[in-house]
Amino acid sequence: MQPWIDLRSDTVTQPTPEMRSLMASAAVGDDVYGEDPTINRLQEMAAERMGKEAGLFVPSGTMGNLIAVLAQCQRGDEVIMGNLGHTFLFEGGGISALGGVFPHTLLNRGDGTLDLDEVRAAVRPADVHHPISRMLILENTHNRCGGVVLSPEYTRAAGALAHEHDLFLHIDGARIFNAAAALAVAPAELAASADSITFCLSKGLCAPVGSVLCGSRAMIERARRIRKQLGGGMRQAGVLAAAGIYALEHMTARLADDHRRAARLADGIQNLPGVVFEMGLPPTNMVFSSFTQDIPYDAAEIVKRLKEQGILAGVVAERRLRMVTHYWIDDASVDRTIEAFRQILK
Ligand SMILES: *Cc1c(COP(=O)(O)O)cnc(C)c1O
Repeated sequence: MQPWIDLRSDTVTQPTPEMRSLMASAAVGDDVYGEDPTINRLQEMAAERMGKEAGLFVPSGTMGNLIAVLAQCQRGDEVIMGNLGHTFLFEGGGISALGGVFPHTLLNRGDGTLDLDEVRAAVRPADVHHPISRMLILENTHNRCGGVVLSPEYTRAAGALAHEHDLFLHIDGARIFNAAAALAVAPAELAASADSITFCLSKGLCAPVGSVLCGSRAMIERARRIRKQLGGGMRQAGVLAAAGIYALEHMTARLADDHRRAARLADGIQNLPGVVFEMGLPPTNMVFSSFTQDIPYDAAEIVKRLKEQGILAGVVAERRLRMVTHYWIDDASVDRTIEAFRQILK
C-alpha cells in the first residue's frame, strides 16, 4: 500500500480502489449550470445527513467556512470564535481579507468549548460605537484541543444563546462524522441548532477533494453566488462528488476503528519515560503527546527519528507531537509506531 506509516494527518488519505472506480464511471454535467447529477446527489445526501434543507459542494473546508461567513455577515461585523479554532488560526485570515469581518476570540477551554457566559458577555450591545456581533463559530471535533468532541447538549445551549442574541451559529464540522461516531449520535443531532455547517470529505472519509456546506435553502443560494465569486464554481466535478458519495455511504461507519487505534497508540506510548498526555487521551482519531524535559530531544528530533523508521508524525509545538489515525493506518502500523517510540525513548 503506502510506503510510509503516515500519521501527520487524516488529510493524507488516498481514495480506495472502489472509490476510484466509482469516480471513473460518474455521470457528470456542468455544475455552474446546476447540471451535474452526481454533485446534485451528493449535495442532497449531505444536507440530509446534516438535517438541513440544502448543501453546496466546495473545493475545501476552508472555502466552506469562508462562504458560511460571507453569506451571513456584512463588512464590519464581528464573529465570535475560539482562539484555537481552525478558522482563527489556519484559514489565512480569509474572513477579514475577503469579507471585512473580524474575529472576536475567546479562550478555548481544554474540552474545545467556549464558556457560554463569556460568549454572552462578548456579544456587543446595540450602539454605534460597536461592531455588530453576527455569528458564533464552534468546531466539532476540535482539532487543536485534541480532537475533542462537543456534545449535543452543549451545542444546543450555544445555539440557543446565539439565537437569543440574533447571532448565526456556524459549526466547523470538518470532522463532524468523527464526533458523531465517538458519541454514537447522528451528525444531524450535532448540527441541529446550527444555521450552517461545513464538513470535509477529504479527511477521514478518504475522498481526494471536497467539503460540503449545509444550511437553509436561502443561505445556500447566496453561498452558490459567493462560491462563484471566489472562483470555486467547478464544472464536471461529479468525478469528485462521486468519491464524496462513496465516502458518505462507506466511510463514516468505520471511523470508530480509527478512534480505537488512536486509543491503542496512546495506550502503547503513555507509560514510556517522558511522555505525557497533557491534553488527555484521544477521544477520536488524534493523538497529541507531549515530552518532558527529561527527554534529550525536542519534537522535531523525535519526528526525525520516527522518519528513519518509516513513520511520519507532525510537530505542533517544541515538545508536542500530533499523530492522526485514518483508513490507511492498520493495527500493524500502530504496533510498529509504538515499537519505534520504545526504541527512541528507551
Ligand atoms: C481541515 C480542517 C478544515 C478545512 O481544511 P481544508 O484543508 O481547507 O479542507 C477546517 N476546519 C478544521 C477543524 C479542519 O481540521
